[in-house]
Amino acid sequence: MRCRSCNYDITPFFSLGEMPLVNSFLTQEEIAMEEKFDLSIGFCPKCYLVQLINIVSPERLFRDYIYFSATSKFFLEHCRKTAKDLTKKLNLNSKSLVLEIASNDGSQLKFFQDIGIKILGIDPAVNIAELANKNGIPTLPEFFGYDFAKKLKENQNVEADLIFGANVLAHVPEIIDFVRGVKVVLKQKGTAVFEFPYLKGLIEKKFDTIYHEHVFYYSLIALKNLFQKADLEIYDVEMTPMQGGSLRIFISHPGSYGITENVKNLIAEEIKTGFDKIEIYQELNKNIQDLKNKLMNLLDEIKKAGKKVAAYSAPAKGNILLNYFGIDENYIDFIVDKAESKQGLYTPGTHLLVYPPEKINQDKPDYLLVLCWNIADEIVDQLKSYHDAGGKFIIPVPDIKIL
Ligand SMILES: [Zn+2]
Repeated sequence: MRCRSCNYDITPFFSLGEMPLVNSFLTQEEIAMEEKFDLSIGFCPKCYLVQLINIVSPERLFRDYIYFSATSKFFLEHCRKTAKDLTKKLNLNSKSLVLEIASNDGSQLKFFQDIGIKILGIDPAVNIAELANKNGIPTLPEFFGYDFAKKLKENQNVEADLIFGANVLAHVPEIIDFVRGVKVVLKQKGTAVFEFPYLKGLIEKKFDTIYHEHVFYYSLIALKNLFQKADLEIYDVEMTPMQGGSLRIFISHPGSYGITENVKNLIAEEIKTGFDKIEIYQELNKNIQDLKNKLMNLLDEIKKAGKKVAAYSAPAKGNILLNYFGIDENYIDFIVDKAESKQGLYTPGTHLLVYPPEKINQDKPDYLLVLCWNIADEIVDQLKSYHDAGGKFIIPVPDIKIL
């Protein structure tokens, strides 16, 4: 298998085997037809890019997407702060244009619009783009790439002061074509900002971020090589708490801005940690098996004691954890999720019927397995009355905690 950035032979290092598409919730009729796809991951020894070995086509994954981003308070607060911080840092004003790639329902762009900045969204999910347009967020229902970017520039004079993309850089298999497109629509002194889960999290056992939508698991050293191929330069980098630890990178045409100490320091740290060598990745398998054994032993004990366990929320990562560890109806009494779009459907692979969160108050399970562990604090806070009444939380990743 060849690297999607530099075409060198990649080295496989971890496999979850055949997995369902973890954002494809099922009706009862669809269960029998559910498909599974290989989910294995490898490392490129030449450009250091960590990537899936086999991919599922983006048309299949993203055209009719169930995820509506405006469901978490934590997320909306992050969007508000992002708009404020980037407007200040990049000196955006009413003449500026913010172009967001994979803009989803427009939650992020809305905050720029409120500040008085011009906005344009692009998202391939036709159903979600339609909703965004209805809500006053201009959104084109397209996949972003080089040809589309050229059309935008030539036919509509689109040149962005800020190109923003959260959780898109990891999702695009044709990544070189994508970054060449960024080069085309980025204004001469413009900045492109991308946010994505940091590879470091994967090394720290946050393995449930591996799913078919995530083709790439980025380190800064791999990204530096990638953007160089499109004649772009990473000039700054920040850490954000999204998805249990994300990077936010700032990209410009070469030489537009000085490369900051942040970039130099993080690259030095990554080399020191060994992100440029296969060994660190090969440890992952053993660490994940340890985590699996601990969690399954805990659930076995709880079940033997005759206690009830419910799963709290059914995010993509949660479905990976359930499927890979083999946590099904033998361990889980029921699962709840706040998103109405998932309620009444069955979880991918494990086929648990999704209930609204109110079921927790009715059934009073002894334990809640918190699958959205990245926002565990928010969940614990929201369910204070459950906890006060003696209910316990199990946080499964990256290390098991009982609260
Ligand atoms: Zn490579």
